[in-house]
Amino acid sequence: MAQRMAAHHRRPVSHTVVSAALNAVATTCRERGLQFTIIRRQVMETLIKAGQPLGAYELMGALQDSLGRRLAPPTVYRALEFLQEQHFVSRIESRNAFVPCAHPDHPHACVFFICDNCGASEEVEDRTIERAVARDAASLGFRVARRVVELQGTCATCLATGTPTASHHP
Ligand SMILES: [Zn+2]
Ligand SMILES: [Zn+2]
Repeated sequence: MAQRMAAHHRRPVSHTVVSAALNAVATTCRERGLQFTIIRRQVMETLIKAGQPLGAYELMGALQDSLGRRLAPPTVYRALEFLQEQHFVSRIESRNAFVPCAHPDHPHACVFFICDNCGASEEVEDRTIERAVARDAASLGFRVARRVVELQGTCATCLATGTPTASHHP
């Protein structure tokens, strides 16, 4: 039930990466005529800094740590909803967790590679997958609302350090 993930080799997200990602979201909000309120910004910043998908409770805990005060859950949920609607944040269904989109400025299919061992996630933008999904959707007459692909396995860092994986599928 609990979504706590071991984070023993979590890579710290550099300040440059955090501010570049926040600036991209701020610019996109401006272009779309949307408010990037302080709370939306704080939620976005916390998710970017985490470097891995965070569950709602982990997110609230991290926000409390950085702000030094507790935010009301509905406030956080509303901010999360906004960020998801704008595709700045994706929900990882398999983890019930949230992760910032790597390319918030344009619509795309988000493809996430999620490590079962350390919880790290990497997003890639793959035009081939997007085209294939668009083609298949068209042939089915299906309108796609959410384009998030989740791939689970073991990340390169865990493989290199020989960290035992939770499950083996030979
Ligand atoms: Zn994305
Ligand atoms: Zn890993």
